[in-house]
Amino acid sequence: MTKNVLNDDDGDEAGFDLGFATRAIRGDRETMLASARMHGANPLCGRLIDDQDCIRSSSGKQDNPSIAANAGLAASLTGLEGAEAGLIFGSGLAALTALFRATTSPGDRVLVQKSACTATSELIQATLASIGVDMAVVDFAAGHNLRDALNGRTRVIYLETPSNPLNSIVDITAVSVQAHGHGLVVAVDNTFASPVLQRPIEHGADVVFHSFAKYINGHGDAMGGGIFGGRELILRTQAVATGAANRQTGLNVDAAHLIQRGLKTLALRMEKHSLSAHAIALTLESHPAVKWVRYPFLASHPDAATAKRQMSAGSGMIAFGLKAGDTVTRQVVERLRLFTASVSAGEVGSLVCTSADLSSARHISLQGSELCETLGQDVVRLSIGLEDAEDLVEDLWGALSGL
Ligand SMILES: *Cc1c(COP(=O)(O)O)cnc(C)c1O
Repeated sequence: MTKNVLNDDDGDEAGFDLGFATRAIRGDRETMLASARMHGANPLCGRLIDDQDCIRSSSGKQDNPSIAANAGLAASLTGLEGAEAGLIFGSGLAALTALFRATTSPGDRVLVQKSACTATSELIQATLASIGVDMAVVDFAAGHNLRDALNGRTRVIYLETPSNPLNSIVDITAVSVQAHGHGLVVAVDNTFASPVLQRPIEHGADVVFHSFAKYINGHGDAMGGGIFGGRELILRTQAVATGAANRQTGLNVDAAHLIQRGLKTLALRMEKHSLSAHAIALTLESHPAVKWVRYPFLASHPDAATAKRQMSAGSGMIAFGLKAGDTVTRQVVERLRLFTASVSAGEVGSLVCTSADLSSARHISLQGSELCETLGQDVVRLSIGLEDAEDLVEDLWGALSGL
């Protein structure tokens, strides 16, 4: 991640290869200009424009501050994900809905990663059904299942890796190679890794999805979502979402500014989230009351090798189970003092929830839905924050004492 950019005496822009943290703070303008020159488009607002338009908007003379703020945010994330273009929405689910509507027609099929009872499952179950799109649930972690689930109308594969809440890992390269052989679009939910740790497009995915409410913003005070990918796909999604290829989607100016500010510390935060979570996962694994721990970079994770190939660190989410049952698990969670009870994730403060909380937070019942992993009620999910890791371990040990 660290690069000796200051000693780069190659004056041309292509040779001026900035590191991730630098681009997260300063990269928006460069990305916008370079991308506009390359494609004749502003990837940030996804609108066809000429160089002059782009320079005008990037130098802050854009009339509407909301459009400028969304353009800046889209520029930053487009560059950080290694995409050609990006589109910003008011929430993660708004972004996903637009993406599915742009890539499918009634009668088509979408293959969805088997995952837990999350907002995504809810959306996919309700929205795809309402637009007449058929869905098949596949455990992509066992790669051979892909071919069995394909039919002639399959259009999109939707992966979540690491998945929520079990930290399942899917091999993005392996799935993308197979999927492209059948002409499918591969979309990856990169919310739990962030582009600091994993850039799915580099591994062959076509489009990346983010819920900004998690790590990207990081402070639990703004909602938003976006998709980042090839220019043609992003423009098509924009046309579906707004009715025209040159109209804007996006966030209000305050939310866009909060998220852009959060992005400036993303590299630093992800490094600390990952360091602490890895240490805490290892320690939890050694506790006699703990039955299992799922963390992508633990040797005990079934797909640790894949995780290490496509991620630079394990991120801040941990799932674990106790030897004792539901009731004791609930008591342990309630005894924690430094973990706030919340089904959100990726914030500066540590959060905790159980699989029971995750499913009851949803408005429609997904009980018995094939989308939901059969988790039981007693999976504990931790979102490790930026507090001192020793304090978090002490808090966990206190809550587990006597077991
Ligand atoms: C929160 C979340 C979503 C949904 O996004 P919203 O911004 O809450 O609409 C989708 N995927 C993952 C992995 C999430 O954590």
